[in-house]
Amino acid sequence: MDTQTKQKSNQGKLFIVATPIGNLQDITYRAVTTLKSVAYIAAEDTRTSKKLLDYYTISTPLLPCHDHNENKAAQHIMAKLAAGDDVALISDAGTPLINDPGYHVVRLLREHAFEVVTIPGACSPIAALSASGLPTDMFTYLGFLPRKGKSRQHILHNIQQASHTQVFLESPKRILKTLQALQALEDMNQRLCCVGRELTKLHEEFIQGSLHDVVAHFEQHAGRGEMVVMLAGAAPKSIEDADIIRILEQRSSNGLSASALAKEVAEDLSISRSRVYALLHPPLKEAI
Ligand code: SAM
Repeated sequence: MDTQTKQKSNQGKLFIVATPIGNLQDITYRAVTTLKSVAYIAAEDTRTSKKLLDYYTISTPLLPCHDHNENKAAQHIMAKLAAGDDVALISDAGTPLINDPGYHVVRLLREHAFEVVTIPGACSPIAALSASGLPTDMFTYLGFLPRKGKSRQHILHNIQQASHTQVFLESPKRILKTLQALQALEDMNQRLCCVGRELTKLHEEFIQGSLHDVVAHFEQHAGRGEMVVMLAGAAPKSIEDADIIRILEQRSSNGLSASALAKEVAEDLSISRSRVYALLHPPLKEAI
């Protein structure tokens, strides 16, 4: 074994450990054993984490690692790993780094070739999406939306245009305002929407329907608790036969055979080749 490999094997590892988002039992067996076995747990708010650690009788010493000290904490954690200690990183709830501290720590450790291990578990956007009934084959996670200005307008516009599910976090204070701002955009009233609230907790609730229905709900019930908002993508715009014929006419002088032209236009418009082909060769009325 060369010196560098030997040195590496003496280094500690950083474990990124997901913790519950409400129900204290939503933690993996591996997460609990890891939190018990590491030398230190770097935690966002040590008082919040204490409740979880006490529940599982974990007495590992805590190190603070939050938004305001993260760069310093990253150096501190790296020094612990270099000395051979394993460290776990947790946040107040859910998966660290997902709208929670930890990015600078992981970045620094990866730059210095330390081992970073993931211990997956609860994550509110994924928990919400999995029970929403909205399409899950492709989605965009937006975190918290910007509160004002051009960047907010830009992101609202992107949500309106997106063809796949959009997932974001919102505070109970701002939920109605944000949903109303989305509803005010063209063609958004009937867009499918689902708000997952207080997931895994006593008052877990999914509010779903058209964006219009969900706005009406929050107009009557003040927003409360923690929330994930999901909106289905825009339905593909329907293409009229007249538009297809116009494109066929424009491209008819390109020298393609009828079947190659039908194939090209069908692919460009994401429609079936037989539909385009039928417009190229309409059946003669007299022959029917
Ligand atoms: N890292 C966390 C995760 O993996 O879920 C997210 C942290 S972020 C600072 C906190 C936000 O996540 C809350 O304001 C809310 O939007 C969402 N959230 C967290 N727990 C939730 C729950 N039990 N139900 C619904 N949303 C939740």
